[in-house]
Amino acid sequence: MAGRSKGPCCPAFQSRLDEAGQRGAAVLVAAGPGEKPVFILQHRAVDIGKEQSVQTEAPLSLVSELRIRHCPWCGRSLQEWYADHWRTFVNPAVPAIAIPELDR
Ligand SMILES: [Zn+2]
Repeated sequence: MAGRSKGPCCPAFQSRLDEAGQRGAAVLVAAGPGEKPVFILQHRAVDIGKEQSVQTEAPLSLVSELRIRHCPWCGRSLQEWYADHWRTFVNPAVPAIAIPELDR
């Protein structure tokens, strides 16, 4: 990696990265089309790996994802802030379910 390495845009973003895979809301960074990062707000109803133990008759979204462009906490442009060091924030243990389509 060339140049200095920046950290997360803010402590709240980092703490949501750290909570990926746990029940609740988290942030994921994933490789999108064109080797550009995609930033995803992911919500899990149960911890990762516990999906099979959920039994319900009503439809239930175990994992929900929304693509985000700006940090929900500090407001920075994620593409700009993480342009050269986004790969260090990819968490292989918690993949995105489906990377949302880019804008057409
Ligand atoms: Zn931030």
